[in-house]
Formats: sequence, structure tokens, C-alpha cells
Amino acid sequence: MITRVDRLFREEARRYCLRMHCEECALFDDEQGFCAHGYPTEPHRKVPSLEEINEIRFCKHFEAA
Ligand code: SF4
Repeated sequence: MITRVDRLFREEARRYCLRMHCEECALFDDEQGFCAHGYPTEPHRKVPSLEEINEIRFCKHFEAA
């Protein structure tokens, strides 16, 4: 799911400590860099800063670790 990253999104992501990336998902293998369900991880990997992007691709199978 593609979501626009704007000022409000960035502010709420900070305020609520939003977790949404593979690195924060229970299905992510940190050592191998793979998803346990075999999904591509590139679109959902952590970005250095939300200030640098205008949209984000949420993974519908994300499970908070
Ligand atoms: S389920 Fe989605 S968010 Fe979790 S590791 Fe796989 S691709 Fe990443």
C-alpha cells in the first residue's frame, strides 16, 4: 500500500513512534536480510529519514516484532 509522506505523516510517525519497516517486523531475518514469507523487502526497508521521501510502501503482512 502506497501512502503519501507529508508534514502530518512525519509528525504523527514521530509522535506515535510508528513502526513499519522490515527491520521492525517479526518476519524479517536480520542476518540474511530476507522475509520469512518470501516477500521482496526492498520496498519496505528502513529509510534514513522520513524527511527524504514523499511516499512509503507499507507491507500488508507486517507484524510488529
Ligand atoms: S512481512 Fe513485509 S514487512 Fe515483514 S519482513 Fe516481510 S516484507 Fe518485510
